[in-house]
Amino acid sequence: MSLVGKNIDAYCLRCRLTLAHVVLYEVGGMVRAVKCKTCRAEHRYHGPAPEKRRSVPAVRQSGAAPAVPPRTVRPADVRQWEARNASTTPDVVTWDYKLTERYEKGDVITHPRFGRGFVESTTSDGMEVLFREGRKRMAMNRPETGPA
Ligand SMILES: [Zn+2]
Repeated sequence: MSLVGKNIDAYCLRCRLTLAHVVLYEVGGMVRAVKCKTCRAEHRYHGPAPEKRRSVPAVRQSGAAPAVPPRTVRPADVRQWEARNASTTPDVVTWDYKLTERYEKGDVITHPRFGRGFVESTTSDGMEVLFREGRKRMAMNRPETGPA
C-alpha cells in the first residue's frame, strides 16, 4: 500500500511547526518527501519534529552582524583530531602559528583562530594541518613581509 498522497504530520522547516503534510514520495514504506499543506513547500521528510529542538529560541541577530556560513566539519576529522589530541602528552611542545616559521610533520601548533593543530605533511612553503574543525592547508616558511 502506497503512502503517496496520504496526510502525515511532519515538521515544516519553513513554518517551523509540526503540520499536516501530504506524502509526495516514499521508498520502501519510508516517507522521503512531503509537501506542507500550510505553506505548500515541498521538502524532505524529517519526522514529526527535529531530533534536537532548541529549548531556548535562537536570538535573531539584528542587521549588522554578518551571516556566519554553516560550518562544514567532517566527523572523521573531528574524531581523528580528538584521537591525536588524546594521545598527545600535556607537556607537548606547541608552536604558535607564524607565517614565516617553518614546521615539520608531527609538529603541534596553536592557531589563534583554529586552536591546536597537528602538522600532517609539509611542502617547501606550505603544510596540511589537522585542526579540530578539519584539515587546512596553511602557508608557512614565507618571507617576512610588511613594513621593514
Ligand atoms: Zn510549511
